[in-house]
Amino acid sequence: MTSTSHFLVNLVGILILLVIVQFWLNRLHQNQIVTEIVMGFSLSATVVLCMLYPFQINDGITFNLRFIPFVLGCLYSHKITSMWLTFLIICLRLMHGLEVSWFPCVSLLIFFLITTKLKPFYNNLPMVKKIIFSGVLMLFMSIWIIVGDKLLFHVPITIELFFSYSVFQSFGILLVVYIMESNKEKQSLLDKIIRMEKVEVVSHLAASISHEVRNPLTTTRGFLQLLNESKAIPEVEKSYLTVAMQELDQAERIIRDYLTFAKPAPEEIESLNLKKEIERTINIIVPLANMNIVELSSELESCYIKGNAGLFQQGLVNLLKNGIEAMPSGGTLSIVGTVEKTLAKVSITDNGVGMTDLQIKRLGEPYFSTKEIRGTGLGMMVAFRIIESMNGTIKVESEPGKGTRITLSFPLNTSG
Ligand code: ADP
Ligand code: MG
Repeated sequence: MTSTSHFLVNLVGILILLVIVQFWLNRLHQNQIVTEIVMGFSLSATVVLCMLYPFQINDGITFNLRFIPFVLGCLYSHKITSMWLTFLIICLRLMHGLEVSWFPCVSLLIFFLITTKLKPFYNNLPMVKKIIFSGVLMLFMSIWIIVGDKLLFHVPITIELFFSYSVFQSFGILLVVYIMESNKEKQSLLDKIIRMEKVEVVSHLAASISHEVRNPLTTTRGFLQLLNESKAIPEVEKSYLTVAMQELDQAERIIRDYLTFAKPAPEEIESLNLKKEIERTINIIVPLANMNIVELSSELESCYIKGNAGLFQQGLVNLLKNGIEAMPSGGTLSIVGTVEKTLAKVSITDNGVGMTDLQIKRLGEPYFSTKEIRGTGLGMMVAFRIIESMNGTIKVESEPGKGTRITLSFPLNTSG
């Protein structure tokens, strides 16, 4: 009975500390450093709690669930946090005396290396596979420890004990990963709904006012152009007219973005040769790249997707422009187009300023821009909308100071 209650103390401790803390962090959209520190503290507290309350499975043989926070740390936290947890567990184990502790300590180091190596693979798995993966990993660790104890120290391990130990551990991690992952999924769904609502409002507004504003703008620009050609106006004053026309052009660009956004469903859907369309778009962007000392490199495989050429180019221009603008002191923008199974993939990679997790989350939100007066905060929103209308998906990977990779995936058009 005491054993069961200690097992529950272990499990409840893990759940309370990790799940609630993670939920709270998700809700408040904390930045990465705060998240890491809070995760580090809660994982350490859980490890200590588990080791303080071991539970007995069989006569005199005690276990605890310290591997659960340890594995979670390796899979979900920064490498420094998982190293710290490894160090903490080893220190606590060594308090029991070196003789009984060398095997768990060496095993822990091996588990640390394996788990951190598998972390990138784990991160790309869907929710169900993550849960299965963590369960299998824990089962492997349990078997390792039990078999090691039996062979090296001749610990009297029965089949029953073997089962309870591996089931306790694997069940524990399955439960925690399930709760953590479903929390994460719920949160991202909520973020998506909030974003869609905002987009909906902007879309209505855009559709209703863009047309009305565009016509007077065009007329005004026409008259300014006439004045600019007039001989009665001195050259100095003509420079004011040039500035006025540039500003009108900027306003026109914003309105054009809005209109595409409000009406992204293209009238004419055709079969697009991805390679050709990307090459055309690169030609459009060359002058901007040259101005920013950015080198453009492309490696494109020929394939076909469905969409509207004009819209596709506009979406791509917005992404390429962002890549160039992210490298104010020059760099390389590489565009790679490949075919993977039934998908055409286009990845745009820059080595520019990069983005934080919070900035990635806000991408595509209307008016989100870090470029102050130079930015409109509409480019990504338009690009997202165009790509979604082509049944495509966007994946953003970025690291501040290192660069950004945006990967677009479109279903291949096999019919034409
Ligand atoms: P704008 O370019 O007018 O600011 P966008 O919607 O095109 O608006 O982009 C929104 C913001 O996303 C940018 O201000 C920038 O902070 C960020 N961003 C987009 N692409 C990149 C990139 N490749 N590298 C770094 N930051 C980017
Ligand atoms: Mg932009």
